[in-house]
Amino acid sequence: MKFNLSDFIEKNNGAIKDIIVTNEKIIFENNEFLYINKCKLLFNKVTDGCLVKIDMKYTLEIICDRCLKELNSSYSSTFYASIIFTNIINKSEISNIDGDLVLKTNSNEVDLNEIIRQHELSSRPMKYICSNDCKGLCNLCGVNLNINICKCQKNLL
Ligand SMILES: [Zn+2]
Ligand SMILES: [Zn+2]
Repeated sequence: MKFNLSDFIEKNNGAIKDIIVTNEKIIFENNEFLYINKCKLLFNKVTDGCLVKIDMKYTLEIICDRCLKELNSSYSSTFYASIIFTNIINKSEISNIDGDLVLKTNSNEVDLNEIIRQHELSSRPMKYICSNDCKGLCNLCGVNLNINICKCQKNLL
């Protein structure tokens, strides 16, 4: 999700801008993706930057920690981030200190994907499991034990 806020940067402090984004897919480096069903962005101008409130409903494709099955689950989340405008083109920088997200970026191309990813990572549970009684994969042959019984398991019995 990239926005050009170069007009907004000229506004007085306290100015507000809202943007609604629907149906947008964000692909992360590890090929997991987050599908934005709907995202409401509210930018609030402050000196040298703005605060943004991000209110999003999204679907995440993740992988079961035990059996590697792909799961889709829907979430909704509201969080805030600070954006500091710099004059450096094509370079943005994110810091995340205890969940306080700060993005330093040029106002022409404000890319919120990494902020969204950072927020999602910090709010995600340590482990995703497709079901509490997921049997996982056989650690010898790799068969999905929810679906099959492998020879290794038979031999152990
Ligand atoms: Zn599983
Ligand atoms: Zn096996």
